[in-house]
Amino acid sequence: MKNRLATPGPAMVPNSILLAGAQEPIHHRSAEMKTIMEEIGTDLKDIFQTQSDIYVQLSSGTGGMEAAVANCFQPGDRVIVVNNGYFGQRFVELCEIYQLNVVQVSSDWGTAINVDDVENKLDADPSIKGIFVVYSETSTGVLNDVQRLAQLCHHRNALLIVDAISALLTQPLPMELWGVDVVIAASHKGFMMPPGLVFFSVSEKAWKAVESNPERSYYFSYRRFRQFYPLAPSSPAVSLIFSLRESLNLLKQEGFSNVIERHQNVAKFVSSELEKIGFRNVVERESDRNSVISVLETPQGVDPAKLRKLLSENYNITVTDGQGPFKGKVIRFGHIGAMDKFEVGSYLRAIEEQVNHLKENQ
Ligand SMILES: *Cc1c(COP(=O)(O)O)cnc(C)c1O
Repeated sequence: MKNRLATPGPAMVPNSILLAGAQEPIHHRSAEMKTIMEEIGTDLKDIFQTQSDIYVQLSSGTGGMEAAVANCFQPGDRVIVVNNGYFGQRFVELCEIYQLNVVQVSSDWGTAINVDDVENKLDADPSIKGIFVVYSETSTGVLNDVQRLAQLCHHRNALLIVDAISALLTQPLPMELWGVDVVIAASHKGFMMPPGLVFFSVSEKAWKAVESNPERSYYFSYRRFRQFYPLAPSSPAVSLIFSLRESLNLLKQEGFSNVIERHQNVAKFVSSELEKIGFRNVVERESDRNSVISVLETPQGVDPAKLRKLLSENYNITVTDGQGPFKGKVIRFGHIGAMDKFEVGSYLRAIEEQVNHLKENQ
């Protein structure tokens, strides 16, 4: 049975993307590589919807988050971190390691942040240099209002740093139009690739801050990425870059905005179908739900751990446990990447069957 990953990354990888990576690597400073990276750069700009360059970094998503913290701020800078989930908490921890002065704005897990709370904090303290936010909080299924947060930064000094690692290609994010300063994405989410690449872009406003800050990272130095563009400052993951080219081909064939729409439709479909059989989405307001993952309480009398085990044993379907306060109480059904209604339909059928089985054997 194939690996059926209903997880929010790693997402399932189409065969053509896998095969594209199984080629002899070329030299990473060759003219051929330069052409490939230029083409990739053009497509990524279309996805990010910006004129700014997009850099390709060799790391998991967290490395992209760390690079933003290390480059955009200096020790003692006051920043707001929006914290309403596992990845928001990760930004808090990263900022603390890099000795930033963190002001947290939180909301309960399962609810979106109240942007007015952020505005009040900004008004109360004009020295705040930046806001960190996770757009699609993958731990809870929540979507935070990045567009409004960006508006708050326009007439202030603060930079908006967005973890769009699971949001890019699943949610609209016109970087330049909205005026976002740093956008971070990763290969193993909407790009349907194995883990290993981060993509990030930096606004002019953010570059000014980066240039005036002392270097605090060598490997993740934004300045070095810019100096070497379109090539990488150190050895890139050449095989993954071949895969990326195929990923971009597939995404272009479908159309970037169609890819986003597909994710939104699949998310609505999963939630409404499972609600029909007694599941409850922990994100009550539909407009607060992201299209990466649905976090659902199981029907009365159905133990989520048993359900996950049966799905795995019978169908090789992986759905994951909740995180934080949701641990042991929910299933997290990921539907990012190569997922459409037909694909998730069979998973939903399997879930219904196993739910009935568990109810009959209570
Ligand atoms: C997957 C993900 C990350 C990065 O996790 P890695 O394991 O480091 O790749 C960060 N933020 C969000 C919102 C994610 O979904």
